[in-house]
Amino acid sequence: MKTILQLGDPLLEKKAKPVREPKSKEVQTIVHDLIALCKEKEENSGGLAAPQIGIGLQIFVARRLDLEEEYRKKGRKIREELDDNLWEVFVNPRIAKRGKRTSTFWEGCLSVDDGQLFGPVTRPATVQVKYTDKDGNKKLITASEYFAHVVQHELDHLKGILFVKYIDNPENLWRNNDLDKYIREHGDFPEAI
Ligand SMILES: [Zn+2]
Repeated sequence: MKTILQLGDPLLEKKAKPVREPKSKEVQTIVHDLIALCKEKEENSGGLAAPQIGIGLQIFVARRLDLEEEYRKKGRKIREELDDNLWEVFVNPRIAKRGKRTSTFWEGCLSVDDGQLFGPVTRPATVQVKYTDKDGNKKLITASEYFAHVVQHELDHLKGILFVKYIDNPENLWRNNDLDKYIREHGDFPEAI
């Protein structure tokens, strides 16, 4: 099993290169490894990008949290119905359009303290992304709310950017356990300071 590189590793700061053959065996293997790692860390993972496993190619996977939410609202069983489609594969992704409105969500990253550190990040609330999917088809997806953050977070990895870059005050970074405890006690996330 591949390991996930951690903050400080220079490979995480390099710009990823475009994929020439999205349907190649090499790409399929990378995608397989990324999804397997995400599943292993299921609780803390919304996605994973190739540079995080030391591969400098423009590939990431993102969990379709938007579909999960939709299915949950309809009371349908997520596991059975989504299964293979739960993880969207993005090859050579580009942002086609950014919404003007912003949203703030708490993000974590499997490359930052193994996904145990969280902080509030403000990004465009909606983005349109052009990409090639796992079957080599060109696609356009509109991502909103938390899913938009996941997609932009993963896109950042392809540019060598980690979410902690957006956290100006380190006091806004919270350990998973402390954050859970705070939310239990206060019913909401802490105010950013
Ligand atoms: Zn990350």
